Amino acid sequence: MNDLETFMLEKFGISKKVLDFCLEQEKAIASSFAEIDRITEYNQYKVLAAMQKNRLSDVHFAATTGYGYNDLGRDTLEEIYADVFEAESALVRPQLISGTHALTVALAGNLRPGDELLSPVGAPYDTLQGVIGIRPEDGSLAEYGITYRQVDLIGEDQFDYEGIRNAMNDKTKLVTIQRSKGYEWRKSFTVEEIGQLISFIKSIKPDVICMVDNCYGEFVETIEPSQVGADLVVGSLIKNPGGGLAPIGGYIVGKKEYVEHAANRLTAPGLGKEVGATLGVTPSLIQGLFQAPQVVNGSLKTALFAAKVYDALGFGVLPTPQEKRADIVQLIRFGAADKMISFCKGIQKAAPVDSYVVPEPWDMPGYDVPVIMAAGAFVQGSSIELSADGPIKPPYNVYMQGGLSWHHGKIGILVSLQTMVDDGVITL
Ligand SMILES: *Cc1c(COP(=O)(O)O)cnc(C)c1O
Repeated sequence: MNDLETFMLEKFGISKKVLDFCLEQEKAIASSFAEIDRITEYNQYKVLAAMQKNRLSDVHFAATTGYGYNDLGRDTLEEIYADVFEAESALVRPQLISGTHALTVALAGNLRPGDELLSPVGAPYDTLQGVIGIRPEDGSLAEYGITYRQVDLIGEDQFDYEGIRNAMNDKTKLVTIQRSKGYEWRKSFTVEEIGQLISFIKSIKPDVICMVDNCYGEFVETIEPSQVGADLVVGSLIKNPGGGLAPIGGYIVGKKEYVEHAANRLTAPGLGKEVGATLGVTPSLIQGLFQAPQVVNGSLKTALFAAKVYDALGFGVLPTPQEKRADIVQLIRFGAADKMISFCKGIQKAAPVDSYVVPEPWDMPGYDVPVIMAAGAFVQGSSIELSADGPIKPPYNVYMQGGLSWHHGKIGILVSLQTMVDDGVITL
């Protein structure tokens, strides 16, 4: 045995059999890794160029307090985001407390009573259903007289163009397009596909606002939805663009007018982007953005490696190792509760934080069945860090994402497989 094999066995209990099996899978995806590296290189230069253009300097790392007037760091970070996304304007704030909040602010800021919201890609992410009022919640958009329509996909991946045409009407003000699959077994859409959908929608109604929920999609490709016609693009900083360093935050980029509407909702009408102290987090948000292409690289390689390993073992995986990736989420269909639980225990065991904790399925509010979650993250709930979760019900799908570095993601997959072997739910 060589040094690495001995180390893996002694420190992590990885058997030679599991290691050899996984290394063989890794070899088979080398050319895809090279393609991921090319995308990362492009995105790294894109972020670097935006920082240089905006003359980023250490004065921008100072903290503001109180109202946060003239916060140069905040304003410069927003200029950098606008340039990276090729958008007119950006709102990037620690006061946007999550992806759901950023989406809520973008929607509530741009919709008025009597307007209609349309989702042409099926049901939106679970938390958004409460925001819109599909699931009744106190303060939902529905309570403000904003109606909602939905057009489901045809099968798992086709836009229902005829259905979308029929659903659009005089009231349709904003169309929300979710790029990532969320907790569905469906395709995540590439930026090109989103662009085609937006062109179709604008051909019917040119002044409709097209918003993209970009969560998990940033830096997976070399272009972003704002470069193919999206008027608003929204996401979370404890996912891809925070690079694992942002401790909180969300972003909204797009047309100046629409970003301002959102800013007036986040702060107050008339105050908009002019206020909002940053309390010292700006350096983490800026450095996180700088690191983000590299961190997304690690997450993509981890997802692809997991797809290859579990596909080779005969489990259903989405996307498959051959498919083009549009986000960092990897679905694995385990088909049995014990396999799914064992896999999640392995992911937790490989974490840098809380590795000694054993995840157990629990009755999470809002779910009808127990949910298991594996996450040992530096930032609470951060899913750009290696994490896996899923509801304990057939067909026992696990949603795995993140990995701050490829080498950490790799050991996560190795430990997950070893745990399944040790638990006797898999034989190699
Ligand atoms: C994560 C996510 C959100 C927002 O979730 P938060 O947990 O509130 O940050 C919205 N849409 C999609 C597709 C997501 O993946």
